[in-house]
Amino acid sequence: MIYRAPVKDMLFTMKELAGLDELTKLPGFEDAGEETAATVLAASAKLTEDVVAPLNATGDKNPSSFKDGQVTTTPGFKDAFQQYVEGGWQGVQHPPALGGQGLPKLISAACMEMLDSANLSFALCPLLTDGAIEALLVAGTPEQQQAYVPNLIAGKWTGTMNLTEPQAGSDLALVSTRADPGGDGTYRLHGTKVFITYGEHDLSENIIHLVLARVAGAPEGVKGISLFICPKVLADGTRNDIQCVSIEHKLGIKASPTAVLQFGDADGAVGYLVGKENRGLEYMFVMMNAARYAVGVQGVGVAERAYQGAVAYARERIQGRPLDGSLPGAGPIINHPDVRRMLMTMRALTEGSRAMALVAAAMHDVAHAHPDEAVRARNQAAYEFLVPLVKGFSTEMSVEVASLGIQVRGGAGYIEESGAPQLMRDARILSIYEGTTAIQANGLVGRKTMRDGGRTARALAGMMEETEAALQTQGGTAVVVAARLGTARKAFLEVVDFVLKHGKSNPNAVFAGAVPYLMLTSQLVAGWQLARGLLAAERSLARGVDADFMRAKVVTARFFADHVLSQAQSWRDRVVEGASSITDLSLDSF
Ligand SMILES: Cc1cc2nc3c(=O)[nH]c(=O)nc-3n(C[C@H](O)[C@H](O)[C@H](O)COP(=O)(O)OP(=O)(O)OC[C@H]3O[C@@H](n4cnc5c(N)ncnc54)[C@H](O)[C@@H]3O)c2cc1C
Repeated sequence: MIYRAPVKDMLFTMKELAGLDELTKLPGFEDAGEETAATVLAASAKLTEDVVAPLNATGDKNPSSFKDGQVTTTPGFKDAFQQYVEGGWQGVQHPPALGGQGLPKLISAACMEMLDSANLSFALCPLLTDGAIEALLVAGTPEQQQAYVPNLIAGKWTGTMNLTEPQAGSDLALVSTRADPGGDGTYRLHGTKVFITYGEHDLSENIIHLVLARVAGAPEGVKGISLFICPKVLADGTRNDIQCVSIEHKLGIKASPTAVLQFGDADGAVGYLVGKENRGLEYMFVMMNAARYAVGVQGVGVAERAYQGAVAYARERIQGRPLDGSLPGAGPIINHPDVRRMLMTMRALTEGSRAMALVAAAMHDVAHAHPDEAVRARNQAAYEFLVPLVKGFSTEMSVEVASLGIQVRGGAGYIEESGAPQLMRDARILSIYEGTTAIQANGLVGRKTMRDGGRTARALAGMMEETEAALQTQGGTAVVVAARLGTARKAFLEVVDFVLKHGKSNPNAVFAGAVPYLMLTSQLVAGWQLARGLLAAERSLARGVDADFMRAKVVTARFFADHVLSQAQSWRDRVVEGASSITDLSLDSF
């Protein structure tokens, strides 16, 4: 299935919605303007379209394989990985002092979306390495940063994230891998980690595992977890005591090896503490937030590719006479209103999710680079509020969009050769790993809404109100979008009030509606961004700039308002009025 990177939509979103020009006023990002973004995105498009995308179907048919503790990746992956790292792509957003390019996350997120569209299995290796780098930059000592980050950026080494154990999935309080002090400042780890993405492979010389474990005598629960660096190969060239026991046979992302790792079969795996003992989860949250955001972008990437494939098919497949008599006989199915409905749904959900993700990335950049502390804090709060939306919503939406990609093709879509089933199978993991949708939604309720008394939620709603006023002034289609946005915003605020009022006194009632709350909030934020895009597009149209593209932005924003934002009231009802029917049935009656 052909892939063409949506560079134009990305640049439009970066410039008009995410404030790319504003970012260039921040220290360190002076050169990261439109020209740089366009150049980087064009180069990323070339690599992902020409080198990585053709390996997607290959990886599905010829997955990574396991023999005698070794993993061999899909033929072609090694060479593609070399091209990826030699091009400097692993370091796009990382500090120049450690070998990176120092570009904003905004630009790197767009590049990652392309890699995800091209090949989700392949993209996972750089994604996890990025997370490991971010964790080391936040919590590692300068010596650890020097020792690991340049090699990770250069692709000589790759990174992994070792949280999950057989008895500890969503609930990391149950992590039981043991870390015994080695008497020389290092530790010896014993335990089993499962589902470790790229836990073993042949793409790089070394693998740097970041591992959650408990030091003897540590408090129970999450307050007793520490973070360790466990390299596969130690500095003296010997193998660490870490064995890959097996890799999983999966529904999708088959080329991405998912390993069971045994730490400490013999003397214990040598581990180096990151930061302080018992504060591991805090550091891991840095990595998890980076990875959660990145998994959300994976959702956008899969959806984009599904959309492109569906449009191409719908233009070619001849079936049925158009209802309006525009053709004398049977014509391409893209003429049927219902096929258009499906394609518009795919397009609007994808563009809305992309807008939400790129705007969040820019907030992350401002939160890190702005000289004013208050501005940094405000943007950090908004970014953290958006991460569960980017992760939770964009991944669920990718499954829906990939499923529509099959429906648009009819029977042909159900056949593997069309490529559509792979996208759906690959997408299915996205709402599970890095915290299921429920875990994202619980975080949105607890950490992101209740903890600050709804301040960030209401601040976002305030910004939406300003957009509504601008839409009203614009007139025409914008007024219809303003009305839908306003109704959805009010439904959201009612839900925020409900969450704040009952979150402590009746948590079951509130958390029963956590996922609907996440869906409502995400649709609202995505619809708001598309509405801002509509305003920008109208401005360009008035200047006669790029009329076809801008008209499409207007129509897509209107579609999102009519067909997605219009669900807001129903989401509100599910949260505010629907809890008891979720929890009333006795456990024995299931
Ligand atoms: C292909 C793949 C790759 C992975 N890669 C990695 C990796 O690289 N590193 C790593 O550490 N892990 C990895 N994982 C593990 C992944 O993060 C976990 O599978 C995920 O966090 C869910 O944990 P679990 O499977 O134990 O499900 P469980 O925690 O048992 O959850 C089962 C169900 O219960 C629900 N649930 C659980 N707790 C709650 C709650 N508090 N509130 C509401 N609902 C709840 C969940 O939403 C889910 O529907 C990977 C998994 C897979 C399948």
